[in-house]
Amino acid sequence: MENSTPMLRQYSEIKKEYPGTILFFRLGDFYEMFNEDAVIGSRELQITLTARHKDSPNPVPMCGVPHHAAAGYITKLVQKGYRVALCEQAEPAAKGIKLVKREVVRVITPGTAIDEQISNAKESVYLCSIVSEGNTVAAAFLELSTGEFSVTLASGVKALETIADQIHRFPVREILTDSGMQSVISKSMGMDTKSSHLGFSEINGNPTASATVGKFVITLVDRDYFDVRNAERLLKDQFGVRELTAFGIADHPHCISAAGACLQYARETQGVSVEHISEITFFQPSEYLVLDAVTLSNLEVMESRSEQPKRTLLGIIDETVTGMGGRLLRSWLIRPSIKRSEIETRLSAVDELSGSILRVGLRHLLKGVLDIERLVGRLNLASITARDLLSLSRSLSQTPEINRLLSDAESLLLQVLSENIFELPEVRELIDRSISDEPPLNLLDGGTIKRGYNAELDEIRDLADSVKQAIAGFEEQERRETGIGALKVRFNNVFGYYIEVSKANLAKVPTRYERRQTLANAERYTTSQLKDWETKVLGAEETMLQLEHNIFREVRDKVVSSTRKLQSTARALATLDVLSALAETAARRNFVRPVLHDGDEIEIKSGRHPVVEAFLAGSFVPNDTYLNNSTDRVLILTGANMGGKSTILRQIALIQILAQIGSYVPASAARLPIVDRIWTRVGASDDLASGRSTFMVEMTETASILHNATPRSLVLLDEIGRGTSTFDGLSIAWAVAEYLHNSSEHSAKTVFATHYHEMTELAENLPGAKNLQISATEKDGNVVFLHKLQPGKASKSYGIAVARLAGLPQPVIERAKDVLRKLEKYELAVFSQEKLNGIGAAAGRSAATQFSLFAIANEDILNELRMLDVESMGSDDARQYLKNLKQRIN
Ligand code: ATP
Repeated sequence: MENSTPMLRQYSEIKKEYPGTILFFRLGDFYEMFNEDAVIGSRELQITLTARHKDSPNPVPMCGVPHHAAAGYITKLVQKGYRVALCEQAEPAAKGIKLVKREVVRVITPGTAIDEQISNAKESVYLCSIVSEGNTVAAAFLELSTGEFSVTLASGVKALETIADQIHRFPVREILTDSGMQSVISKSMGMDTKSSHLGFSEINGNPTASATVGKFVITLVDRDYFDVRNAERLLKDQFGVRELTAFGIADHPHCISAAGACLQYARETQGVSVEHISEITFFQPSEYLVLDAVTLSNLEVMESRSEQPKRTLLGIIDETVTGMGGRLLRSWLIRPSIKRSEIETRLSAVDELSGSILRVGLRHLLKGVLDIERLVGRLNLASITARDLLSLSRSLSQTPEINRLLSDAESLLLQVLSENIFELPEVRELIDRSISDEPPLNLLDGGTIKRGYNAELDEIRDLADSVKQAIAGFEEQERRETGIGALKVRFNNVFGYYIEVSKANLAKVPTRYERRQTLANAERYTTSQLKDWETKVLGAEETMLQLEHNIFREVRDKVVSSTRKLQSTARALATLDVLSALAETAARRNFVRPVLHDGDEIEIKSGRHPVVEAFLAGSFVPNDTYLNNSTDRVLILTGANMGGKSTILRQIALIQILAQIGSYVPASAARLPIVDRIWTRVGASDDLASGRSTFMVEMTETASILHNATPRSLVLLDEIGRGTSTFDGLSIAWAVAEYLHNSSEHSAKTVFATHYHEMTELAENLPGAKNLQISATEKDGNVVFLHKLQPGKASKSYGIAVARLAGLPQPVIERAKDVLRKLEKYELAVFSQEKLNGIGAAAGRSAATQFSLFAIANEDILNELRMLDVESMGSDDARQYLKNLKQRIN
């Protein structure tokens, strides 16, 4: 750095140590950014860019934010995918020290955000690391704010695809990997690295770079992070064990290496021990009901595709009252269970909580419980404040009453939860005895530790108080002695205690006063007595602060030793919150307990779509559904546009998902199997961002279903085949439905909503397929939607009637009807021909049936031409006729 001052040289030294980050450099009450960091900071944070040494030939770009408001700015940068290194003064600025020591205390990255950097209390933030070798891929997932840590493994040709799916589900904010893996990962995530907004590599051009892609950043770390031996040592040290066998990963070196990388990165960025990461869970992706990202999005499980963010399954059922409960419910929804026993245990608990007295009582108590999970995180990341400790104690004080309410519980899960809720009276007592009832925000403001907790502290406080009282009395005494009524004794940080006398009274100032400062209208003085007191007060205050600091740390360390019990309590309370929230939803929305069985039937009586129902102005029409793996395994669903095909399709999936998280379902009764995977695909949905055409997306997704579906899967297809020409689309739709019906390996329970009426023929011919229609009628030329599901095929589409509802001009509507009539006639002819040929639908287009749309629409002219007697026409007549014809066809 040109223009180097000692401070700027110190800056450069530190900056070198933290490449790939934006360095927040503490200067007094500000965090300053310099050079490229300042340029990025001012752009991203919309703050003014200034410069040091402005008038020199080499000005240094600079911008800054006040330290008390830094959290908000850091959050903004981190959410945009940047990493921020927080550099603090490591010693107090004091007389005689020209350049204070500074050091980086923490690096905040998208995947390691805690506290204020997480805007939504119900949202989890995951850091992920990936290791891939041949056909084996391992991925570790760490939620730093709570210490939740898990790892998974996939192998085979679809390993990357499986892991990519997990990454979308968790949801991951930052992926650690080494340079060798980067492009493989980007590709498997469906990301185009070239078009991605580059983060640090572009800005700083250094090896530890991040590229922001989609919702997460990829952070390249050194190969050493993934070294298995290092990783193993690190994990054993972290968990305090001699072997990793208990965690199920001892025989999976890839998992060890992925987990080790996550842990090392967490330790390094936090700069403190991360002891709340006390275990790791190994899971197989197939241990849960698989819901891929597209299905989650199509079903609007967590995120709405419309403008209304609340119109999601989560939005409807989330009655949790704690942040940790909210996060747990999300993770259940993303990973519903496939273990019947686990689901039944949850259902029994929800059943018992449906009794309103227990539920209302528990929910009332849970409202007084704060986010213990994250408080424990902060406790172990050394960022806990006195106020947090009080929150912890107040939350814990609800536990005896919660356990008392649970003492009569009959359901096994509620009993187990109660056993895991520790009341920790010693922790509460310690906090309540040591921390003031209203502690200051900042420890340095003094007054954090309660009077009566530490005798030494109390003694010094008394001393300081008595001196302060003496000073207060001193003002009165001096006014009397000098006769200056307006004389004031005050304190400020620069001059300490002083006596202030206005200019008008200067004549009365006694000689024992020593001048300290001259102001425009007044003079400030001190006396030997005042100086003496000042030394005592300031000395006492410094000792007090030091003592408070030490006592606070002692208290914190004592609470830290209860980390495991606190975590267990937090998890149990979160589960209790989710279960009572599900019971609350069931009661509010009239859901029933589903009956799970080991067979293959899905039998839903009067099922409803919970989200559509909640936002419908009128009343929702419930529908029955029946599916099995023999007679009713492919349902072809036809009906008017806007009739409710998509609604019923999604309703089946949502009911199945709700049941598998252990929730009641929106129906009057439901008998359900355990499903291993649900696919929901909607034809013609765009994925412009990834540059794939509508139809390509549709077909890629369909291919994945046909390869992966099992007889235990549920496949819901909504207008597949719509993204291409009618005949292409119909042929594909036909073949797909036939395949899902016939394949022994991949025949899944399938509902196929379609506008292709030809598809209903399929149901008439295949033994396991059925036609269902959503009824609508026409009244005075207008369609009336009944939304009722019935056996049989719809007679017509009502597309034109809906187009009229939408306000298409009358001539267009009339012409469309006209063209439709002709098309229907033509289609009928083609189909009877195809049937005769035994090809099923229009799977192959024969030359004989190569009519163009034009030909059909102008059938009148063709007929006229057929009838035309050319012989009897004169040449002028013929010319005139041709002219005429040309006009008509134009
Ligand atoms: P399209 O073929 O045009 O895509 P669709 O048949 O898939 O239409 P949906 O999108 O499912 O129709 O439903 C259209 C609207 O009809 C819904 O937004 C909802 O307002 C209403 N609706 C659907 N099902 C029901 C029902 N069972 N009871 C009441 N209203 C319903």
